[in-house]
Amino acid sequence: LASALKLKPDFLLNSLLEMGFENLSPDSIFTGETAALVAMEFGYDASVDTGGERDLRVRPPPEDVSSLPQRPPVVTIMGHVDHGKTTLLDWLRKSSVAAQEHGGITQHIGAFMVKMSSGKSITFLDTPGHAAFLTMRQRGANVTDIVVLVVAADDSVKPQTLEALKHARAAQVPMIVAINKIDKPDARPDQVKADLARYGVEIEDFGGEVQVVCVSGKTGEGMEDLEENIITLSEILDVRAEPDGMAEGHILEASVKQHGKSATILIKRGTLRPGDSIVAGTAWARVRVLRNEAGVELTEAPPGTPVEVLGWRDELPAAGDEVLQAPDEDRARTAIGYRMEMRYREESSKQLAEQEQRQREKEEAERAAAEAEADDVEVDEETGTTMVNFTVKGDVVGSVEAVCATIQELGNHEVQPRILRFSAGQVSEFDIDHAATSRSTIVNFNNAIPAHVKRLAEDKGVRILDHTVIYHLSDDVRQTLSAHLSDTI
Ligand code: GDP
Repeated sequence: LASALKLKPDFLLNSLLEMGFENLSPDSIFTGETAALVAMEFGYDASVDTGGERDLRVRPPPEDVSSLPQRPPVVTIMGHVDHGKTTLLDWLRKSSVAAQEHGGITQHIGAFMVKMSSGKSITFLDTPGHAAFLTMRQRGANVTDIVVLVVAADDSVKPQTLEALKHARAAQVPMIVAINKIDKPDARPDQVKADLARYGVEIEDFGGEVQVVCVSGKTGEGMEDLEENIITLSEILDVRAEPDGMAEGHILEASVKQHGKSATILIKRGTLRPGDSIVAGTAWARVRVLRNEAGVELTEAPPGTPVEVLGWRDELPAAGDEVLQAPDEDRARTAIGYRMEMRYREESSKQLAEQEQRQREKEEAERAAAEAEADDVEVDEETGTTMVNFTVKGDVVGSVEAVCATIQELGNHEVQPRILRFSAGQVSEFDIDHAATSRSTIVNFNNAIPAHVKRLAEDKGVRILDHTVIYHLSDDVRQTLSAHLSDTI
């Protein structure tokens, strides 16, 4: 700080002492804010660098998307177990150009691209099952443009079919239905259509917009129609991206392979090339090799392309991480340093908050214990009224207030309810501890009680009146009060 302010260290130290700082030494560390205040004392115009410029940012979207070139649509196949997701993906993978050029041998890298005779391409994510789709979504990576819902013609709609429907709807991703196993003698595609319609899928046969294609992953029947339908839908959706500028994308999967750390990136905008520096979470790479699913080295990966990337340095990125290209290696390193610092700060402030929370709970428990001791006199000396303690919990603030009001109306001159604590939320271990020490009865309204909390209540002999109907609750509280009444009689 002294050298930044062009002062002798001793002089700065003395000045700081005069300003009222205490226990200073040349090793003392100031926060950015304090340093800025000190600099201002010496006539500088200082501002605090929050580090924002050190992180990489997504480029602002282009003003006119419609003039950009189209990119391949990204498709996820979902459906019930054994309805043929893997079989369809295998058929499609074998039809990919890369695979045909290399004797049909492909590696699993998380996605592959199929080029059609029309010259158009489709990218398929090839992790069947819904977990991958959900993981990506939870991490904010909405990479899928179209969901293909596979339903076996001989089995129709099943629980995971409905689950897939739910996910596609929640993600607002348009859908194409592939009725699979159409080659089987007991195939009943009309039944599947009727069932889907029953579950609210607006299929085109019944005047809706959702296309339905009958296919067989075994014979390949209908598979080209499926691909064409995907292209048609992507043209309606008008998926476009700029191939120029710095690359952006998402990590589909990452692992340590024979040849080192490897991660598959699905490029969203820009074009990635060997030699580029990229950042994903707190991992970074200087792209050494780009490869497609057939293991062929690529010189560039434009939007919509899945590529395996080698060249990751210390860390491996994680599925769902956003990938951003840095202008150069230095900027990539700076961004990583900044992100690590932010992560460290987040973690330490979380720890601090947890510590404070524990401390507060401890203090409250101690206070409650002290109160409980005072509560030993349960009978009001002046009026002779017996006081019965309650803790009120409920699903929402409104219901907690209503319950409190109901309880407070009960009682008479001999016995009176006294609400020690009330709050919205589930009954917690702390509530039980507090109720045990303060000898109160817990009233819980319309909220599930965790099993371990129930057990703790039994262990500690704490009564919980658990209700979802207010007048039942009120009856129960009245009974509790009258039980105390008979105690005193
Ligand atoms: P997944 O669990 O959805 O990935 O289903 P699979 O692709 O593993 O298929 C389950 C079973 O159905 C396998 O025994 C497949 O051989 C079979 N299967 C898949 N597609 C077809 C099809 O179109 N016709 C017939 N006859 N069998 C199929």
